[in-house]
Amino acid sequence: MGIKKRRIVIKVGTSTLTNELGKSNLRTMDRLALAVADLQNMGNEVILVSSGAIAVGANKMKLPGRPTQMRLKQAAAAVGQCENMFLYDKFFGDYGKTVAQILLNAEDIMEEGKKENLSNTFEALLENDIIPIVNENDSVSYTEIESEDKLFGDNDMLSAVVAVLCRADLLIILSDIDGFYDKDPRFYKDAQLISRVEEINDQVYRLAGGAGSRRGTGGMRTKLQAAEMATSQGINVIVTNGSSLSGLYDIVAGKKVGTLFTAKK
Ligand code: ADP
Repeated sequence: MGIKKRRIVIKVGTSTLTNELGKSNLRTMDRLALAVADLQNMGNEVILVSSGAIAVGANKMKLPGRPTQMRLKQAAAAVGQCENMFLYDKFFGDYGKTVAQILLNAEDIMEEGKKENLSNTFEALLENDIIPIVNENDSVSYTEIESEDKLFGDNDMLSAVVAVLCRADLLIILSDIDGFYDKDPRFYKDAQLISRVEEINDQVYRLAGGAGSRRGTGGMRTKLQAAEMATSQGINVIVTNGSSLSGLYDIVAGKKVGTLFTAKK
């Protein structure tokens, strides 16, 4: 009995990777590495899109809170990216897996030549059973960390761009919440989880409140934008909670988890 092998992009946000103090959430990172390694052992190809560099870097630099100055944010991103990759390398290494770092800027996917190179790099890594770990190159570009009109918005959009570039079958966005609700559960106790969304229209956007947790920066709005882009290119998107990584096993087993945004074609 063959299990269907899929190419899966998994996005994990700052609020999942760090704790309230801005320190790395080691148990979550370890469980994430275990789950991703298992998915790969089942024959799936997995690409991880990971945030959290600025929060982790700021903590390591002993900055008082999240930096607001651009130069400090970019310095923190450089420190934190290094720390995150060190931890990923260590945890994935424990499960016999090799990881690779890919740092991207918006320009890299807008220019045809660069886009093709990037796509070839992903293919070569996946062919060699390596797990690419992608983040925006925050120390070089600041579209993500400064601009109001964020292109990648805490990597939600970046994960959709990567899913489209790599022609993924599925994009899983892990958040600090179980999925997409009919109103922001932070403010409304009676908010209900929506398990399936077929059409991402203005009415759906109106259900998403502003940016979420203090450490996360995207909120549901950027997740909807990412889902809109990926589903329009034929990719199913699931938004679910990153704290219980058992959900990843349920998803590949075809069980209902979180909110499914269905692919358009
Ligand atoms: P992450 O770092 O995981 O990307 P964010 O904090 O950026 O997390 O986004 C998730 C947050 O979005 C939730 O914690 C929640 O407070 C907020 N949110 C706003 N509107 C909604 C909604 N309709 N359904 C679910 N969450 C919502």
